[in-house]
Amino acid sequence: MESEKIHCLIIGSGPAGYTAAIYAARAGLKPIMYTGLVQGGQLMNTTDVENYPGYPKGILGPEMMEDFKLQAERFGTDIRYGMATKVEFNQHPPHKVWIDGEKLLEADAVILATGAEAKWLGLDSEKRLNGSGVSACAVCDGFFFRKQEVAIVGAGDTACEEAIYLSKICSTVHMIVRRDVMRASTIMQERVINTPNIKIYWNSQTDEILGDTVVESVRIKNCKENTMTEVPISGFFVAIGHKPNSDVFKEYIHTDDQGYVITVPGRTETNVEGVFACGDLQDKVFRQAVTAAGTGCMAALETERYLSAKH
Ligand code: NDP
Repeated sequence: MESEKIHCLIIGSGPAGYTAAIYAARAGLKPIMYTGLVQGGQLMNTTDVENYPGYPKGILGPEMMEDFKLQAERFGTDIRYGMATKVEFNQHPPHKVWIDGEKLLEADAVILATGAEAKWLGLDSEKRLNGSGVSACAVCDGFFFRKQEVAIVGAGDTACEEAIYLSKICSTVHMIVRRDVMRASTIMQERVINTPNIKIYWNSQTDEILGDTVVESVRIKNCKENTMTEVPISGFFVAIGHKPNSDVFKEYIHTDDQGYVITVPGRTETNVEGVFACGDLQDKVFRQAVTAAGTGCMAALETERYLSAKH
């Protein structure tokens, strides 16, 4: 099997990975990045991004990721397509990473930036209208539906937080909850229940999101009463949880009960020497492009300090 020795390896190509690459390359670490299946991460599925500083007119998610890529390449990042399919992280480097089961990398330091994926309901209409009214991020896209009616599905802390966020921007938030209780913390539930323009549909599921080219309404099924209600909306938010892309590292890297990589508080260090984690892979609270970029910067700075102390 082909093998290669690498000084600084970055796995993942969202805002965290690219920002780590920009900093690592400018620090002379000659980083090599493996992008994963989709170069650019979750922002490749996003349309307008209006909350990333530096783009006063907004930008399309894929275009923004192309800018990140060009900036990382400008300082010499070697960007390659490929998936990390297996790792062997022993207490001391070099750390082994297999790419597509075909190539072995031996790295002095590794930055994990593989992100997380939003969970989806699995409806065809949800897929078809994604980016045309369907979104998995209220903070990113709520503003596009100001003063309009929207729906949100989910009943965890994220759904409650996002419903409250949306209630301040939108006229009415229709919240679809599949059981007769919410999973969210009591305080969050109370806030939702006490917000006049959030209407909760208990024991309900999304039967269909309707609209030809953009979201126009949602058909909600009350499973207890076996009734259907069609509600006109412009935005449909899915907030049923995220899955961090940590499976391949789990044998070696400590994760929490939901699979998020655990780092030293306020840092990007993991439990393994020379392995750092950034972005949504280790952040279940904020999940924003700008916060991912921030922790990507931190990971590169910590990697640079680590490698210069070692070599
Ligand atoms: P959770 O896994 O906690 O909740 C997911 C919710 O989505 C549940 O209510 C679940 O319903 C519902 N759901 C799942 N699948 C479906 C489906 N197919 N159809 C309809 N509903 C569905 O995810 P969160 O993202 O809310 O939270 C993840 C973690 O992050 C939690 O530990 C949370 O506390 C934490 N968090 C903390 C925050 C903070 O501290 N500020 C903010 C946001 C999150 P059911 O209950 O019936 O299973």
